[in-house]
Amino acid sequence: MTEATELVGSELDLVAEEIRAGDRFLLTTHENPDGDALGSLLAVHRILETLGKDSLMFLTAKEFPLPVEYRFLPLEEVFHEPPADISDRVVIFLDCGNIDRMPVDFLREARNKVINIDHHHDNTRFGTINLIDVEASCTAEIVYDLAGLLGVEMTPELANALYVALVTDTGKFMYENTDGRSHRMAAGLIDAGVQVNEVYRRLYEHSPIEKLKLLARALEKIELLDDGRLAVTYISGDDYTSTGASEALTEGVIDHLRTVDGTVVAAVVRDQSDGGRAARKVSMRSTDGRVDVSAIARVHGGGGHRRAAGFGTDLPYEQVVEFLIGEIAAQLGGPPTSG
Ligand code: AMP
Ligand code: MN
Ligand code: MN
Repeated sequence: MTEATELVGSELDLVAEEIRAGDRFLLTTHENPDGDALGSLLAVHRILETLGKDSLMFLTAKEFPLPVEYRFLPLEEVFHEPPADISDRVVIFLDCGNIDRMPVDFLREARNKVINIDHHHDNTRFGTINLIDVEASCTAEIVYDLAGLLGVEMTPELANALYVALVTDTGKFMYENTDGRSHRMAAGLIDAGVQVNEVYRRLYEHSPIEKLKLLARALEKIELLDDGRLAVTYISGDDYTSTGASEALTEGVIDHLRTVDGTVVAAVVRDQSDGGRAARKVSMRSTDGRVDVSAIARVHGGGGHRRAAGFGTDLPYEQVVEFLIGEIAAQLGGPPTSG
């Protein structure tokens, strides 16, 4: 056992103790929640309920409707307003690398005990207890271990929530974060009752036609720049209007860009429709690991993993592209011709 895993092990024990001792909890995750965010949120909620705790899930109203992929998860109980007894609750953040990824004043200013459970290497450790396992493919992997430690029975519903998180964060077990541990977890979840094909169909084969129309627009506008090192596209407000698609239907577009031969970094720049925050969101993927996209994201206050990261910005598309090309060149030691 390495020093890092020992440390994580002791944090896991601490979190388990905190959960056993606590009574009331509030659970949350990052904005624009993905499968790991929502799966881990629901899983911890069920674990706490099983232990007889009072648990509330919280997400802001702007996150609804959720991306269509995840609407089959039973998340009807999610709260959009702070509960009156918030100051008496232990707050648990899941899959959230920094507190600004849940931009809600009552949480930012809270004096509550905060448990921070995450797998991002750039997690800012904003919690009272920080259970950060960068070796975990998804936050749900940590939650799975926690359930085991707490002796909570793996019901089909709990297993389903964890499986959704695992499948989405590992790119269906294909990203480099996939290892024996993620497959052993998958085996455990399937033994507990996950219907693999049913989950797959719900996640990937229930797309509204508008999603495909938006994808078609995005693919039509692909640019291969920097001698093919950067595959990038722009999804504008016009594209939402003309296809009838909402911003939530942009999920997965980036997976198509990364498939282009020779691509080192894939990026999707999209207009954000909810106003108030940055005008645009930039999602990035590093295909072969040579570029650390989380470092690029941090320049603009974002973050993520080395191979998957994002940030918000008000820069116009052309300037985002210029910025990305500059950052890629800086990391690869120069532009394509000299490198
Ligand atoms: P996305 O491109 O939205 O699928 O996000 C890819 C990864 O980057 C995920 O692990 C996110 O948690 C992380 N990420 C995306 N946007 C941000 C941001 N604004 N700040 C910090 N991390 C982010
Ligand atoms: Mn996430
Ligand atoms: Mn995650």
